[in-house]
Amino acid sequence: MYIVMIASECAPVAKVGGLGDVVFGLSRELELRGHAVEIVLPKYDCMRTDQVWGLQPAYHDLWVPWDGGAIPCTVWFGFVHGRKCFFIEPHSSQAFFGRGTYYGFWDDAERFAFFSKAALEFLLRTNKRPDVIHTHDWQTALVPVLLYEVYAGAGLTDQRVCHTIHNFRHQGVTGPEILRVTGLNRPEYFGAPDRMGDDLDHHAINLTRGAILYANFVTTVSPHHAWEVRHTDLGCGLGHTLHQHQQKFGGILNGLDYEMWNPEIDPHIARHYNAASIEQKAGNTDALRDRMLLRGGRRPVIAYVGRLDTQKGLHLIRHALFHALEHDAQFVLLGSGSEHGINEDFSHLKRRLNDNPDCHLEIGYDEDLAHLIYAGADLLVMPSLYEPCGLTQMIALRYGTVPVVRAVGGLKDTVFDWDFSERPRQLRNGFVFEHADQHGIEFALSRALGLWRHEPALFRELATQGMAYDYSWNHPGRHYVDIYEFIRHR
Ligand code: ADP
Repeated sequence: MYIVMIASECAPVAKVGGLGDVVFGLSRELELRGHAVEIVLPKYDCMRTDQVWGLQPAYHDLWVPWDGGAIPCTVWFGFVHGRKCFFIEPHSSQAFFGRGTYYGFWDDAERFAFFSKAALEFLLRTNKRPDVIHTHDWQTALVPVLLYEVYAGAGLTDQRVCHTIHNFRHQGVTGPEILRVTGLNRPEYFGAPDRMGDDLDHHAINLTRGAILYANFVTTVSPHHAWEVRHTDLGCGLGHTLHQHQQKFGGILNGLDYEMWNPEIDPHIARHYNAASIEQKAGNTDALRDRMLLRGGRRPVIAYVGRLDTQKGLHLIRHALFHALEHDAQFVLLGSGSEHGINEDFSHLKRRLNDNPDCHLEIGYDEDLAHLIYAGADLLVMPSLYEPCGLTQMIALRYGTVPVVRAVGGLKDTVFDWDFSERPRQLRNGFVFEHADQHGIEFALSRALGLWRHEPALFRELATQGMAYDYSWNHPGRHYVDIYEFIRHR
């Protein structure tokens, strides 16, 4: 098949979060399976051009109809770690992608609506006729709408769209003028409650809702989250729409990049190991303690790595830290938040615990240190309030670090409780709790610490069972191919 990804991010050239990892990882997997993949991205001024090989203009004078006129664009081409990427650079005074950062502007909806339209115009003008177009999140949610309402009539007749929603909290809710600038017009038609009208703000247009209606298939990033967004308020107002379209909606777990996250060859860790040599992991625990100035001795190390965001269950992370200290365990945290208040709180906690030999908090983003923590810790906590997929627990499993997680979203799909899971004993890989309160996490943590302390052989067995799971792109890649095949022949 010939597949075109249209997205606002692709790691490592333009990455803000997990979306970028998925676009890159899935594209590589599809290519390994013999499909032709091209990725269309905006040409941001702030993107990592050092991660692009052979970047050069490939198409001049792409005129994209916009706001009653047209904006000329240059389309660049280059390889991002082997992936074929096209970058669209508009030339207009609005400098849509020349603003120093990726998101966060008052006209974000217009910026990415323009990108969505430009991507389709590019396919049309260059006679690219992919079997499937795969779009991601609200930024490219207008692609399926524009395809069927505008571009099918112009020549993109046979193209099918799969749209993936990575985060339901951001849906691209914007004013009706978006219809005018894109040339869709007809606000009474598109803005109707059963089309792109927003449930909560009746004057607004909801781009993600448009994608759900118009795409041939819609996915989110784990099976359990697909259930949650239909049956709980985690759908953020889209539950009803998803219900109506449930025959074309499903959850597919994200994959993990098994080359980047591999304790056998990871250049950032002190000792390499695999499931058969998991005792070598202790060398990484020592290195981690050295680096974080923690004392040695026979104590388990509990870690948290991730964004400091209320989504992640911050009060429970804090509780886990104090629980660890009270129970002769050690705690390391690596995280940063986008909210000043949250960073301040954790910096305050860091100062308070500065001299504690069993605990270290690192407030910031540090890729190298993250690798050492995954390799050196015994347990990793992830008490998220919601978690569409979650990569951190999968990385922990890969590194033989036992995850202690709340039973939400992708965490529920990937971690199976040592004591209570319905799975056979040899397929259990962590500790899981239900309620987002102190009792919940304490119960899971005390079981984990008990096993570590009193049944070290069993704890090691649990850790190696986690390492045996395959959360690479292998399975998700196959699922996406099945979906593409399914929609291609409809
Ligand atoms: P989310 O997408 O909600 O941030 P995920 O668990 O899906 O959470 O992905 C988080 C990824 O970001 C993991 O690869 C994790 O290692 C990495 N990460 C998060 N915070 C940091 C940090 N402060 N330093 C290094 N890596 C981080």
